[in-house]
Amino acid sequence: GEPVLEIRDLSVDYGYGDDPTHVLRKVSLTLNRGEVLGLAGESGCGKSTLAYAATRLLAPPGLITSGEVWLTGRDGTRADLLRLSDRELRSTRWQDIAIVFQGAMSSLNPVYRIGRQIVDGILAHRPGLSRSAAAERAAELLELVGIPADRLRSYPHQLSGGMRQRVMIAMALALEPQVLIMDEPTTALDVVMQRQILEQVMELRDRLGFSVVLITHDVSLLVEVADRIAIMYAGEIVEQADAGDVYRRPRHPYAHGLLGSFPPLHGPRRELSGIPGSPPDLSRLPQGCPFAPRCPHATDVCREARPVLGTTRSAEHGRLVSCHLHDPELRDVLPAELAR
Ligand code: SF4
Ligand code: MG
Repeated sequence: GEPVLEIRDLSVDYGYGDDPTHVLRKVSLTLNRGEVLGLAGESGCGKSTLAYAATRLLAPPGLITSGEVWLTGRDGTRADLLRLSDRELRSTRWQDIAIVFQGAMSSLNPVYRIGRQIVDGILAHRPGLSRSAAAERAAELLELVGIPADRLRSYPHQLSGGMRQRVMIAMALALEPQVLIMDEPTTALDVVMQRQILEQVMELRDRLGFSVVLITHDVSLLVEVADRIAIMYAGEIVEQADAGDVYRRPRHPYAHGLLGSFPPLHGPRRELSGIPGSPPDLSRLPQGCPFAPRCPHATDVCREARPVLGTTRSAEHGRLVSCHLHDPELRDVLPAELAR
């Protein structure tokens, strides 16, 4: 497919001075037009930082230390978001790229009606529009996400959590963005509501043709909706492939553990295995593979040399993995569970 968002070598540090913590290390990711790219990993692995940094919403002490973020606009022109002026960024960010943040639904102002908040949001970016045209658009947007337009008169507390989250999605879609980034958009909701909302976003994607980056700690949510999945650990992407390939045949030991710790969507529930050990302390990463302290396959080479993201031995279609096991020069034998 044609790339609509291309993140290249994006790095972020927290803290200044001689000893900053590297929370994102040279992350590269491409989102193709019309695609849903799922980004998964335990909390603290850098997923949200990636979303904030790529849209330049990262606040101090977060600091982008390297990278490019190329966005293809509606007119086909490409721009590096990290090098746009603040003014160019303000218009681009909301026209071509929109974000629904974690906990977004609690950012609705409790004292104003839903309608007013959507209208104000639209007018902030389309100052030329009349208030009545913006109100019409607000009604359209609400119906787009399956909420009757008369709810425009409701206050946030009069809506369910699921409805409030739909309102946030409607607002994100107000300017018909090319790219929608959703960071844990449904985490606060029950499982049934989570699925309903994601299914609705996918329907809208089909109708309106935007592309989605869906960020979640819950890989099982991605399996149904994502076209491709990227898995992050300790500020890096450790595996990236077509969703079905990652789900059925994870190649990185961490991806294997992560998938093993979620029940299958269909069929009998299996025992959850989880991943032993605790998430890494980013300020004190081991010298070699960041996953080595928790990896059942770690050897001396893992503790000495840091693996890089590359193709697997059999160079499977589009799959990238960052693990020495997949480098035949370093390890002869691939454990059976990772070689299926
Ligand atoms: Fe495990 Fe070594 Fe692969 Fe890291 S490089 S995931 S420690 S086998
Ligand atoms: Mg997060």
